[in-house]
Amino acid sequence: MTTILIILIGVSFITVYKVIGEIMESRACPDDITLRKVVLGQIPKRDGTSKRVIRHLGTCNKCQAKVDELNQR
Ligand SMILES: [Zn+2]
Repeated sequence: MTTILIILIGVSFITVYKVIGEIMESRACPDDITLRKVVLGQIPKRDGTSKRVIRHLGTCNKCQAKVDELNQR
């Protein structure tokens, strides 16, 4: 019984760690080159990087401004 409990706790720790890692990653601003590539569709939409950048754009005003700038050119 204790073994199962330890495994369960271990698994939930790994899950939490992964989720936190993903949140931290999507918070960090992508570099200009990556941002431009995603905006111009040079990275496939199903690509992990593209997804992360798009998710990040929903929360970051700084990067939204950069995208606006890119679109105006
Ligand atoms: Zn950003």
